[in-house]
Amino acid sequence: MDFDALFNAQLDQLKSDGNYRYFAELERKCGKFPRAANHDENGVRDVTVWCSNDYLGMGQHPKVIAAMCEAVERTGTGAGGTRNISGTNHDHLLLEQELADLHGKEAALLFTSGYVSNWAALSTLGSRLKDCVILSDAGNHASMIEGIRHSKATKVIWKHNDAHDLEMKLRALPRDVPKIVAFESVYSMDGDIAPIREIVDVAEKYGAMTYLDEVHAVGMYGPRGGGVAEREGLSDRITLIEGTLGKAYGVVGGYITGSPALCDFIRSFASGFIFTTALPPAIAAAARTSIAYLKTSQIERAAQKRQVARLRAALDREGIPHMVNESHIIPVMIGDPVKTRMLADYLMQEWDIYVQPINYPTVPKGTERLRFTPSPLHSDADIDHLVNALSVLWRQCALARAVA
Ligand code: PMP
Repeated sequence: MDFDALFNAQLDQLKSDGNYRYFAELERKCGKFPRAANHDENGVRDVTVWCSNDYLGMGQHPKVIAAMCEAVERTGTGAGGTRNISGTNHDHLLLEQELADLHGKEAALLFTSGYVSNWAALSTLGSRLKDCVILSDAGNHASMIEGIRHSKATKVIWKHNDAHDLEMKLRALPRDVPKIVAFESVYSMDGDIAPIREIVDVAEKYGAMTYLDEVHAVGMYGPRGGGVAEREGLSDRITLIEGTLGKAYGVVGGYITGSPALCDFIRSFASGFIFTTALPPAIAAAARTSIAYLKTSQIERAAQKRQVARLRAALDREGIPHMVNESHIIPVMIGDPVKTRMLADYLMQEWDIYVQPINYPTVPKGTERLRFTPSPLHSDADIDHLVNALSVLWRQCALARAVA
């Protein structure tokens, strides 16, 4: 059988739909964020990155780099095994304590990525808790959806960010089955924020456990970077908080925090935790330094807020339509995959601006967009350059402007 022909048939379909994923080949430059070199068929050139999830530039922070280098010298490159078989290092345990403290919980458990932490935790909870029902926000991330699917638990989808709909769905369920309400704080593509208090109120009323993904919030919200739940004083009412070390903390890895029994349960049953090599200790050391730093420093969070507000105001002045939300994520809506890609190409080729087109299935068809994430390290001149470029492109391509 010609397998390549089978693969190519589906790839060709993606291409003709405009949904084929092209990588931009970047070479990050230490200490230069948000500048990076872009390699393509025409050669190499410096670009400004506008779509990174290294939201605060911590991936190039001198303290984080020093911590990683020190730990590599001290421990070597790899962990040496799975967590159960020789791979648990002192640095992992120190990081887990730091994470538990960050969220005001008693325990935490590390995973190799945020994706794996969601997948492993939800699939374990849903499959191990007898008759469990998982109530999942309609906007939840693929890692949560896949974890729930794999658990084979009954899944009930409630309307995005709608605590009233959640209550209707909870009310219809039998009283004595375990229920888990799974949702995010900051949604990555629209940048909208969940009404956490209302959701927790409803969940508590029906005795449901709450599972909150704070991947796009940790490091950036709350006085110590403990996420939106910390900012709203709600961390202690959330049963499980999940997060990543790969976005605002600038490293890689994922985690859950909660009670000792909850973390021990996942540790003991989750195949995504048990059967994979542990993160390198140097990664753990770097992440711990980044978390500890952002627990006290307000400089990065304040500067990011300022640049987010500045970009929004400049887009408004030029009538470039963008989604209104209260987060650091600025989606500029295009609504067509081919146009979105074309605009991203122009920005790269003519303006040295890199923003990745966001197409289906990452976002629903018809809502294709450019998603900008200003960091504290984007200068005012970077923002002016970006908005000038967008304004010229809007004129050249005769795109609709927002009416003030
Ligand atoms: N949850 C959400 C909401 C995400 O957007 C992502 C990744 N973009 C993840 C989890 C996975 O996190 P990681 O990148 O650490 O695997």
